[in-house]
Amino acid sequence: MIPILRTVAELRALSGGWKARNEVVGVVPTMGALHDGHLSLARRARAECDRVITTIFVNPKQFNNPEDLKKYPRSEDADAALLATVPVDAIFAPPVEEVYPDGFITTVSMGGVAQPLEGHMRPGHFDGVATVVTKLFGMSLADRGYFGHKDWQQLQVVLRLVRDLNIPVQVVGCETIREPDGLAMSSRNVRLTAEGRAKAPILYAAITRAAEDIRAGHADRMAIREAAETMRKAGFERVEYIELRDAETLMPSDDPRRPRRMLAAAWIDGVRLIDNIPV
Ligand code: AMP
Repeated sequence: MIPILRTVAELRALSGGWKARNEVVGVVPTMGALHDGHLSLARRARAECDRVITTIFVNPKQFNNPEDLKKYPRSEDADAALLATVPVDAIFAPPVEEVYPDGFITTVSMGGVAQPLEGHMRPGHFDGVATVVTKLFGMSLADRGYFGHKDWQQLQVVLRLVRDLNIPVQVVGCETIREPDGLAMSSRNVRLTAEGRAKAPILYAAITRAAEDIRAGHADRMAIREAAETMRKAGFERVEYIELRDAETLMPSDDPRRPRRMLAAAWIDGVRLIDNIPV
């Protein structure tokens, strides 16, 4: 059985012991409801570190929508069973009061890369992410932190965070894991009805087509408009954004010499999906 730790003191004692022996500690922050995407991060950490901690914490501070927080899937027993297949060395699954005890008043607030797209659509989201990631790094004493490309903007936010605050953690980005039909794995996919699930892969198909067209010389705006149209016709209730951005700063970019990323968010079946790909 993998130990499940509930307190920062326990986590520190365990990780501190490893560090005293000069072992390299990797942390994989998650909100649980684990799938193969999460496990790919844990496996990568397993391959690259002496010790691996997976954290499971549904961070209330990064939810701008209380309904989304309430409905967020939770499945700790199944998560622990999946993590045993990697295996990781420890699971840190603290209660909310352990992370945000009475009197907690500090927020890590970020401009720049945290402002557009998800930052714009979900006010306060990235401040919540930056605050909890800073805390998880501090609590776990990790040398490396593993994050998925699935949440590309979040990865860029965390890379900027560790630079700006001199946090001695090496941030490692990992490829997006997809279902066979292209849909990016996500804990929220379980909330889709069969009908919504059948249509959901059109998000990835549409942005993939747009990226191909842009690489072939089509106008950016036109390719993006067609992708949005394809999605609306397929039954997406709302396309929040499809944007071609500088891959690092997330600012608008029409400079094809810099790495660019196409990022999208859309609603199908009452579920908000995000995805992104290189262009
Ligand atoms: P979450 O539990 O949604 O907060 O995700 C925890 C970590 O897993 C984040 O770094 C995500 O980017 C990463 N992740 C989520 N879904 C995937 C996926 N399909 N492929 C790769 N990484 C993922």
